[in-house]
Amino acid sequence: MTVHPSKLSLTSREALGFTEAECLYDPELHTGPEAVDESPEEEAARHLIATEVCLACPLLGQCLRRAVAGSPEPGIWGTFDAESLTAIIDDGNTADHALSEVA
Ligand code: SF4
Repeated sequence: MTVHPSKLSLTSREALGFTEAECLYDPELHTGPEAVDESPEEEAARHLIATEVCLACPLLGQCLRRAVAGSPEPGIWGTFDAESLTAIIDDGNTADHALSEVA
């Protein structure tokens, strides 16, 4: 599983060039709360806000390339949820294809 950018160790963040990732400020926004269950409405609202954060992130393209090159763990990656990215990968599409779909 490819670790979400918000959950990378400091060493990995530096090695992979993710020190400026916007999701580092609030990791649970992108990967979900660990301690409590979310309702579907809460999850949808969180995804919407995480997507807005991704759209403002300078590493969006780099994030999608890393996700599509691996097997992204659950979370929002560059505006996509991991399931959507897995479908993109399974269809043989590239990160550039995913980027072209970013709003
Ligand atoms: S595009 Fe989104 S998930 Fe990817 S590094 Fe930036 S804020 Fe994090």
